[in-house]
Amino acid sequence: MAKLTFLGAAGCVTGSKYLVEAAGKRLLVDCGIFQGSQELQDRNYKPLPVDPKTIDCAMLTHAHLDHTGWLPVLAKDGYHGPIFANPATIELTTILLKDSAHLQEEDTLHAQTHKYSRHAEPRALYTTDDVDPVLKQLKTMPRSGGFDISPEFHVASYDAGHILGSSSLELTITEGGRKTVVVFSGDIGRYSQVILKDPTTPPSKADALICESTYGDREHPDGNPAELLAQIVNRVVKRGGSIVIPSFAIGRTQTFMYYLRQLEDQQRIPRVPVYVDSPMALSATDLYLKHREDHDLEFAREEGSDGKGDPLNVHEFHLTRSVEESKAINDVKTPCIIISASGMVSGGRVLHHLAQRLSDARNAVILAGFQAEGTRGRALQEGAKSLKLFGQDVPVCAEIVEMGQFSAHAGKSELMRWLTALPAPPRQTYLTHGEPAAAQALQAAIQQKFQWKAAVARYLDAVTIGS
Ligand SMILES: [Zn+2]
Repeated sequence: MAKLTFLGAAGCVTGSKYLVEAAGKRLLVDCGIFQGSQELQDRNYKPLPVDPKTIDCAMLTHAHLDHTGWLPVLAKDGYHGPIFANPATIELTTILLKDSAHLQEEDTLHAQTHKYSRHAEPRALYTTDDVDPVLKQLKTMPRSGGFDISPEFHVASYDAGHILGSSSLELTITEGGRKTVVVFSGDIGRYSQVILKDPTTPPSKADALICESTYGDREHPDGNPAELLAQIVNRVVKRGGSIVIPSFAIGRTQTFMYYLRQLEDQQRIPRVPVYVDSPMALSATDLYLKHREDHDLEFAREEGSDGKGDPLNVHEFHLTRSVEESKAINDVKTPCIIISASGMVSGGRVLHHLAQRLSDARNAVILAGFQAEGTRGRALQEGAKSLKLFGQDVPVCAEIVEMGQFSAHAGKSELMRWLTALPAPPRQTYLTHGEPAAAQALQAAIQQKFQWKAAVARYLDAVTIGS
C-alpha cells in the first residue's frame, strides 16, 4: 500500500508538493512555493511535517515556482537527494530559482529601507547562496518515455502543453511484487495554442489520479488573442498611453512576444518599444527556441528548418537587466509596452511600473494569467479602486483588461477533454491545484459526466493508494 500526503496545492493553486511513501521509500513530487494571501505565504516559513532528510528522491512536473520555488528551503532543511526533471525543466528551473532568490533579496532590501513591512526585520525566504546546492541536485530524466528513478519508482512523462518542458507524470510503484500506478496531471495546458504541442493524457489505467483544477469552474473567453491584442494596443497607443503586462518571464512572455511580432509584421499595430523587464527573459526565450522537442508544427515552420526564423522577437525590443535600467523605464513618456514580473502582482519589478502608471487613465494593464485569491492581481481583476504599493494607496485609473485567451491553463472543458482521454476510470481521483469553488465544480462535472467519485484534496491530508 502506498501513502500519499498533500503538502500543498490543496485548497489553493500554489505550493504544489505531494509526498509518496511506498516500499519504505519517500518520493516528493514537485516542491512549490505558496503565493497569494499572507496566510499562504506564512506556510513557506513553516517546516515540512516530514523531515526532508528522510526523503529519498524528488521529481518535477514543470519549472513554475509554485512547483519548484521551495526547493532551496527543502535543501537548506536537509534534503540532499536527486531532483529529477527533463532537460528543459532543469534549465528553466535554474534560471527561475536564481531569479526568485534575486527578487526576494531586492524586495527584502526595499522593505527594510522603506520600513513598510509588517515584520520588524523582513528577511528573504532564501538567498542566491541557497540556490547553488539545489542546482547540483537536479538530475536529467527523459522528456518522454519511461525512466527508473529507483527500483521502487518508475516514471513515464507526457507533454502537458502548459509551459516549455511541462509534463504529466505516470508513476508506477513496485512494492512486494505488486504494481500501483499514480498519475500526476501536473498543470494542464491548452489545446491548439501557439508554440507548444497539445497536452497528452497518460495512457495507463491509474489506481490514483491527482488532477489539477485551476479552472475547474470556468471557461476561458472566446475570441482571437491576436485580434484582441491588436485592438488594445491600437486603442492605448492612440490615446498616448502605455501598457503594463504583469507576467513571469517564462511562458506568457514568449506568447505575447509571438503575437506582437506577428501583428507588427502584418502591420496591424504600430511598432512601439517593448520593454521586457526581467534579467532572465532573454535566457528563457533562448530556451524556448532551443528545445525544439516541445514545438508544435506551426511554430517549427515559422522557425524554419535552419532555425533562423525569429518568431519571438519584436522589432523594438528592450531588455532590462539591472534595477537602474528598470527604473529608467519610468522616464519613457511615449507609448510603450512593459512586460514585467510577477504575474499576479504579488511582488517583483512590476510593482514599480504600476506605482508609476496605474493612476493615469491613458494607460492599460493586461491581466492574462490566473490571479490567486489575496493577490493584487486579483484585486485589480475585481475592480479595486486603489492598490497598495510600497505602503502607498495608488488610485487605479488605468484601463484594466482581462485576457483569459492568453492563459496557459486548460479551461474547464479542456480539463474534461484531458480526462475523457483516460483509458479507464481511475480507482481514486483527487483534485488539487484549485481554489475550493473550482475544485468542487470539477468534482461535480466529473461525477456527472463519468460517474466516478472524485475527492477534493485537503491540505496535509494523507490517503492510502492501491489495494
Ligand atoms: Zn504552472
